[in-house]
Amino acid sequence: MLGTISREQVLAAEFEWRERALDWEWADDEEELVTAYHEAGHAIVGCALGAHIASVSLSQASMFDDEDEIGVRRFGDCIVQWGRIDPNSDWQVTRELLTILAGPVAEFVYQSGDEDALDVRTWAGDWRQAQRCVAILKKDPQQQTKLLHQCIAQLRHIVSSEPCWSAIAALADELMLGDEIEGEQVADLVRFWWSRA
Ligand SMILES: [Zn+2]
Repeated sequence: MLGTISREQVLAAEFEWRERALDWEWADDEEELVTAYHEAGHAIVGCALGAHIASVSLSQASMFDDEDEIGVRRFGDCIVQWGRIDPNSDWQVTRELLTILAGPVAEFVYQSGDEDALDVRTWAGDWRQAQRCVAILKKDPQQQTKLLHQCIAQLRHIVSSEPCWSAIAALADELMLGDEIEGEQVADLVRFWWSRA
């Protein structure tokens, strides 16, 4: 029957719908921002350690595509190239290890070090790569764990200090605009913030 719903009821329903839409958008944006800080962490630390960053982006298309795949929530991408190097030298493996861990660490620092906010499953790929690196550097499993903890502690300090944090925040902001960021832009940010330090 028409005319049984009051104008107030319609307005209330519309208001509730809008509230939910806002909540939903906010949740998405927040998750995207966390990913932006994660990818920016890989890119800025890698670049500062001498890598050439091919590109870095938030590939939003896969955000929903991947929803059915168990454990796949990461939808950002950072492509790092090291050029002509000895892949097995300790220095090279260490640079890679720091660059890999810089993503999760930047995310952690962005979340104000709140361990409850962390979703370690999304780091599975980074974590596996990091473990591969420490296995090259140290034979003893206890030493491997110790090295991982040392690198994370060192990175937490570097990433949360200047000039690193400003460079990561600036890149995360650019990533949120949605375009793919080219390596030269990352290198410019590193030059800019490090020259002020
Ligand atoms: Zn990562």
